[in-house]
Amino acid sequence: MPTEAILNLAPTASEPLRYSQNRGDILVDSSRANRKFINRRKKLVELLEDRGIQDEQVLKAIETIPRHLFVDTALEDRAYEDSALPIGKGQTISQPYTVAAQTQLLAVRPGDKVLEIGTGSGYQAAVLCEMGAEVYSVERHEELYLKARDLLRDFGYRLQIKLGDGTLGWSAYAPYDRIVVTAGAPVVPEELIRQLTIEGRLVVPVGDHEKQKMVCITRISEDAYEEEHFDSYKFVPLIGEKGWKGDPRG
Ligand code: SAM
Repeated sequence: MPTEAILNLAPTASEPLRYSQNRGDILVDSSRANRKFINRRKKLVELLEDRGIQDEQVLKAIETIPRHLFVDTALEDRAYEDSALPIGKGQTISQPYTVAAQTQLLAVRPGDKVLEIGTGSGYQAAVLCEMGAEVYSVERHEELYLKARDLLRDFGYRLQIKLGDGTLGWSAYAPYDRIVVTAGAPVVPEELIRQLTIEGRLVVPVGDHEKQKMVCITRISEDAYEEEHFDSYKFVPLIGEKGWKGDPRG
């Protein structure tokens, strides 16, 4: 495993601790390999700014988190390209721009209770943790769930993750201030709306298998919601009781 994140070690005088409040224990050393990744992260952040991402907290989280540790070592050299990458089980770690745009739309405030549907590699969950959110995340593939859970724990992030069908939300911890769905849904899963706080916000890509519009739903009272539509994306399918019934890709 690359050494940018040296996990759960106390800092020494020669190893500056780059640690964001109470969120993780990402220790960054100054070796050449790590400088390479740090520089690439800075460039990625510049690119995201050029593409219109303005939320300082989102940009700071992306600049902090070693995305190359969330992909297979064979892919780590591509980790700071603005592209989705395979993570196994036919799934992907989302493109950095997509992560940034969804998180910016969520408008996360420190201390917000945030539910993520589709843990995948764990990268989006790490971004939310870095922003000071109290994070809950659900993944349907056991292999991905176990890998992400262990990696996020190794980083020192304190969050709740479970294996299950996220189209049903996670009622045990509801309501949530924010809910983000990182897979494409055929319709907005109603359970998720029900698990929002008043003034809570849900960001979910909705459409067919080829293309989904980013939909942002704000709960304005017990039974009233506002719906806004944003750009189009292409996500892997949200599969479950209130999502697609099977993977169209076979
Ligand atoms: N947030 C992830 C990341 O940072 O790597 C992106 C993962 S990928 C684009 C979407 C994930 O949603 C996949 O890992 C997939 O298995 C998961 N997924 C699809 N349907 C789901 C469901 N009903 N419940 C939970 N996870 C689901």
